[in-house]
Amino acid sequence: MSDCLFCKIINNEIPSTKIYEDEKVLAFNDINPQSPVHILIIPKKHITSMNDFDETNIDILSHIFLVIKSIAKDKGLKEKGYRIVNNCGEQGGQTVDHIHFHLLGGRNMYWPPG
Ligand code: AMP
Ligand code: ZN
Repeated sequence: MSDCLFCKIINNEIPSTKIYEDEKVLAFNDINPQSPVHILIIPKKHITSMNDFDETNIDILSHIFLVIKSIAKDKGLKEKGYRIVNNCGEQGGQTVDHIHFHLLGGRNMYWPPG
């Protein structure tokens, strides 16, 4: 998607601080961190939101969760814990229409979220 912010990050048209990359997935620091560790994990394939999660992309999303687990360990979050967030759609608070998972850690999290 040529006008998608995260596709531009994948294509290096917009800079990012990359944390992890393979042929299917990119992880980079959130530009407006909400916790000491705040990383976005995205598929390189453009998928708009969780509403587009189906049998055709099960592999990539399960791979993303293994990547998240690995990054959490690398960032020293495994023992104390962390939060994984997906915002879907307008009321879910999604502001970038390329599916992404937030990995948040390094401080106590609260519930319910805002
Ligand atoms: P969401 O509100 O769940 O759609 O999350 C979008 C996230 O993208 C927000 O946390 C933003 O801070 C983050 N963001 C927006 N632009 C950039 C960028 N250029 N580089 C890194 N993160 C970004
Ligand atoms: Zn995209």
